[in-house]
Amino acid sequence: MASVLAAVMTAPHQPVELREFQEPDLPPGGALLRTAMSEVCGTDVHLWHGRLSGVPYPIIPGHVTTGTLEKARGRVTDVEGQPLQEGDRLAFFDVHRTCGHCLACTAHRTPTRCAARRVYGITDSANDGLFGGWAQKVYLEPGVIMAKLPDRVTFQDYIGGGCGLLTSVHIIERSRVVMGDIVVVQGAGAVGMCAAALARKAGASRVIVIGAPAARLSLARKMGADVTIDIDTTTADERLAHVMALTNGIGADVVIEAAGSPRAFEEGVRFARNGGAYVIAGHYTNTGDSTINAHEHINRKHLDIRGCWGSEAGHFLRGLRILDRYRDDVPFAEIGARTYGLGQINEALKMAESMAIPKALVNPWG
Ligand SMILES: [Zn+2]
Ligand SMILES: [Zn+2]
Repeated sequence: MASVLAAVMTAPHQPVELREFQEPDLPPGGALLRTAMSEVCGTDVHLWHGRLSGVPYPIIPGHVTTGTLEKARGRVTDVEGQPLQEGDRLAFFDVHRTCGHCLACTAHRTPTRCAARRVYGITDSANDGLFGGWAQKVYLEPGVIMAKLPDRVTFQDYIGGGCGLLTSVHIIERSRVVMGDIVVVQGAGAVGMCAAALARKAGASRVIVIGAPAARLSLARKMGADVTIDIDTTTADERLAHVMALTNGIGADVVIEAAGSPRAFEEGVRFARNGGAYVIAGHYTNTGDSTINAHEHINRKHLDIRGCWGSEAGHFLRGLRILDRYRDDVPFAEIGARTYGLGQINEALKMAESMAIPKALVNPWG
């Protein structure tokens, strides 16, 4: 059996280690992906800081990953039922084992809250095998949702969009942006940039991105933002005045929080117009309480506040179609600023932690 090199996060705050794994014996319907690229996303930094509960360390991080089908046992199809061949360029949906019959999956129709749901690179243990993308190969167990990359979509396009794109497809659905809306996005990370791009494509008449540093804001403008506001060089009062000036003193129709800060929420509810919507998508970990005034900021304002947790298979599939359709005018690939080999993973994590670049990519063969 061939051995496979993988980067393992043994515990929070510990250096990531390289380990050798054996290629798995595939069960019927199982497949092995030869990784081309994975990513370091904000969630991986949270995993490293030990800020997510219920993580079965040691883990092989890397939830959104792409590559080629190396082998499969028996007939393996994509989610639309088309057979997959060895050598096909694939993406797979990192969320698996969603049960389909619990309260969340059925009556509540919130499958992202299914307790059985597992996520590659986050809630799968390295003790169970190659369940993460920071590895030369990834085991795709039977039932994992797979799709061929559209011909025009490169590995770089897919992973540049990455989990921020999937999340943003869900965000736009939750936000119910309609043509002509004015949208404020708080945060200029991978999620904020993709949300700005998708809000633009969904018909927003003006997209305002608030974040930092300047290099990210400049990429946010290329992605589709009309106006960017640098959080490092402005006060909260100045930002509120700026948003109000851009909306004739009325406020934005939709505000999307992709910053992960309790202060962003306090600030963001003030940006929304009466009867507007506020979508919280950046609080993947508990960063503490926010203080807002229920009368002034929610009730009297008739504000609609919605959470947005994880993504579903439909977001994954639509993400691929969005890349296919818009890769030429939205530079998704540019979000993946720098690529690291497995031996440089700790450096990549530090880079992601410092937010110096929008996103670090992982090439496990590099
Ligand atoms: Zn379920
Ligand atoms: Zn992610």
